[in-house]
This record gives sequence, C-alpha cells and structure tokens, in this order.
Amino acid sequence: MDLGLKGKCALVTAASRGLGRASALALAAEGAKVAVAGRNVGALDELVRELLAAGASDAMAVQMDLARHETLRPGVDAVAHKFGSLDIFLGNTGGPASGPFLSVSSEAWQAAINEILLPLVDLSRAVLPHMQAAGGGRIMFVTTVGVKMVQPNMVLSDSLRLAVVGLAKSLSIEFAHENIMVNCLCPGPFATDRMEDLIVASMERDGLSRADAEAVWLDEVPARKFGDPGDFGAIVATLASSRGGFITGTAIALDGGKSRAY
Ligand code: NAD
Repeated sequence: MDLGLKGKCALVTAASRGLGRASALALAAEGAKVAVAGRNVGALDELVRELLAAGASDAMAVQMDLARHETLRPGVDAVAHKFGSLDIFLGNTGGPASGPFLSVSSEAWQAAINEILLPLVDLSRAVLPHMQAAGGGRIMFVTTVGVKMVQPNMVLSDSLRLAVVGLAKSLSIEFAHENIMVNCLCPGPFATDRMEDLIVASMERDGLSRADAEAVWLDEVPARKFGDPGDFGAIVATLASSRGGFITGTAIALDGGKSRAY
C-alpha cells in the first residue's frame, strides 16, 4: 500500500538502534524525508546512508541528547529548516534502569524524569508550531505495554510512561482540530538491544539461565515470541500517514497479546 508519505518530513529521536531505527527505516521506505536524532551525529552517518538507500527523499542526522534539553529545540528547528517543514515526530527515548522499587535511587528517578518525560514535553513544544504551520501532523510517543499492565522490576518505566500517556491524551484533545494526531505506541517485548540488556539484567540479578530469563518475558505473551522491530516501524508509518487521520489520543499495544487489556 502506498501510504502517501513521499516527501513528508519526519523526525525520529533516539534513532540509532532498535525501535527508533526500525521506524526511521520504515518511513524512509515510504519515501519520507527522515531526520534521525541521537547523541553522536557521526555515529548516525551510516544510518543516513541506509535511509537514502531504503528510499528516503532526503535524510539527515541531527545532534540531540535527550538529557540535555537545550539541544532539543535547535535540533527540531534545524530539521524543519533543512526539510522545509515538519509533519511527523516519533518521540522515542532510551529506556530507564530496571529493578525493584527499593533499589531505585532518587538520582535514578530524577534521571528518568529528565531523559524520558521532560524531553518529550520540550520536543512537543518545539515541533507543534511547525505542524500548525504545515496544516497538520502526527506525533507518536514510544512508551511500553507497562502502561496497560504493571510489570515486575519496571517501576521507573511503568510510572513515567503513564505520564507520557497523559501528555499524549492532553495534546490530542488540544490539537486534533488542527489535524495534528497524537498517540502512544506501547511495545511488549521486541527483539532489540534494550531487550537483550533486560534479559542479561534478570540473569545477573535473579541468577537465571538465559532460557529462563527469556521465559520471564515470553511466558505472558500469548504469541510466544519477541516482536520484530520492522513490524513496529510499519505501524509507525501507517499512523504517520493520512490513514492515521482519525486516530488520536490512543495508546496502542503492540505486544503479542501480553497486556490482556481491552
Ligand atoms: P534500545 O536500547 O535498543 O535503543 C534505545 C535508543 O535510545 C538508542 O538509539 C540510544 O542511543 C538512544 N538513547 C538513549 N539515551 C539517549 C539520550 N539521552 N539521548 C539520545 N538518545 C538516547 O531500545 P529499544 O528497544 O529500541 O526501545 C526504545 C524505547 O521503547 C525505550 O524507551 C524502551 O524503554 C521502550 N520499550 C522497548 C521494549 C522492547 O522490548 N524493546 C519494550 C517496551 C518498551
């Protein structure tokens, strides 16, 4: 299906790996102009080449450290300046540390708020005027299935992502009349570096074998497999297109059935 994204201008944050990278590639395959943001622009050069090879109308790397909020608005404005507009924003972040509540320090809470919640607030402030000027847009925040069902040892992620869902819902009602649709994507276990880190963490913390540590993540997944990041990217591209024009304020589970929620 041609999603009509050719020439549309997209920004993906935390894009060097995993779900962000897969989403950038999916948007590129639809012919969008794709900006990938990360802490080290040089490390994104190869991805920029891959985006162009995949079919992107244009591609660029932009320096943004989600922990350094002063880098965010200049990054957004640089993308809008080079591409001429900004239509699509995938607000992806790194994941916070895992562990039981009493093991999570105040510093870790502050860092997670700083790197997961506040950058999405500042980035939304920066991208919305460009979308208003363009006559519409799509904002998607990457959260977790933990916003639908609490997960053991994920108190930082599950708590702060609920705030992100609240942010998306608030923006959705405020900007839908301007054709700006705002949604959250709620991944269950996908096969990325982050998932590998979580598996290794539970092996080390709980003394589990690799098979048992993987089972911790898969036992509750009726589909009995890790998600393919490419499938995640395909949903991002669909929501980013005109086909996503009547979907806003939702938190969509991509979780192989894990959440059990309606
Ligand atoms: P990943 O670890 O594979 O990739 C994370 C990306 O974030 C990397 O590109 C990293 O460089 C970037 N990043 C981290 N801190 C950054 C910073 N301060 N500034 C800029 N970039 C930064 O993770 P992933 O599996 O692709 O997950 C993406 C998001 O989805 C995470 O927030 C994660 O918590 C969430 N999530 C993932 C899964 C999963 O199974 N993979 C499940 C639920 C939620």
